[in-house]
Amino acid sequence: MSNNGSTFPPYRRRPRGALLITLALLAVVAAAGAGARLLWHPPGGNPSPTGAAAPGSPSPGTPAAEPPGGGTAPAPSPTSQTGRGTGTTPAGLRGKTILLDPGHNPHNADHTQQIARLVDIGNDRKECDTTGTATNGGYAEAAFTLDVVRRARTLLEAAGAKVVLTQDGDRPYGPCVDERAAAGNAAHADAAVSVHADGSAPGNRGFHVILPDRVTAGAADTAPITGPSRELGERLAADFAAATGSARSNYLGHGTGLDVRADLGGLNLSTVPKVFIECGNMRDPRDAAQLTDPAWREKAARGITKGITDFLTR
Ligand SMILES: [Zn+2]
Repeated sequence: MSNNGSTFPPYRRRPRGALLITLALLAVVAAAGAGARLLWHPPGGNPSPTGAAAPGSPSPGTPAAEPPGGGTAPAPSPTSQTGRGTGTTPAGLRGKTILLDPGHNPHNADHTQQIARLVDIGNDRKECDTTGTATNGGYAEAAFTLDVVRRARTLLEAAGAKVVLTQDGDRPYGPCVDERAAAGNAAHADAAVSVHADGSAPGNRGFHVILPDRVTAGAADTAPITGPSRELGERLAADFAAATGSARSNYLGHGTGLDVRADLGGLNLSTVPKVFIECGNMRDPRDAAQLTDPAWREKAARGITKGITDFLTR
């Protein structure tokens, strides 16, 4: 992916109250994740053919019991002592809608003609979709994105959110980038995240989050979403780093892990807060070792979930 990194202001620290809420949420997400692992064992090791993970299978559902605020529940989290102790139960995202967009599609490679069709992205026309990249060992980006998104969906649903996917391994190709944006708009998503992994040169390592640039052209008008998208992206970057132990990109963003782009239809056409996350560089052997590890992908999903949760409960 091209490098058009920009400089960014330094991170703003969150207030202590938010930190406490964050810690409580982390505990909830960790608990949900532990439950999910028991219920949903990921396909082992490497390339999972799309069908292997049972595309249409229902998510495991919320962990049993634990009445929110119920009298028999264990001691409340420290958050309640701050007087702001609402919204941090497992149903803390109830009423929120989240659009998750697994980048590319495992079957795009079989439909090169269809995905080459040009679509309007406001300030340009671009391919409907692309095949995405892969590790040198052949693990496809599209398999990675679908796996991480499914894991994040499980965690977010456990927290009470409604989760909408742009594709769930259930389409012959695509959808096109304009359709991916439209899906979040139609869902009136409170937050939208497109999950990818990069295909850069070996030695280029780490993750980065792509924020929408200000684009007002044709069908694109990102003015209302650039601010909240940056808030979403900053939280996502911080939480992804903490959850995975991965560093922010060493090849763009000047160490911030943030990039801004005006050439992505999925961002240009969004009317809801939206970012992309490039979780690592598939062409770097050390990054690839992480990306192909199911345990690391679970951490990635937790980081994404945490970033979205922090944004929606800020
Ligand atoms: Zn991609």
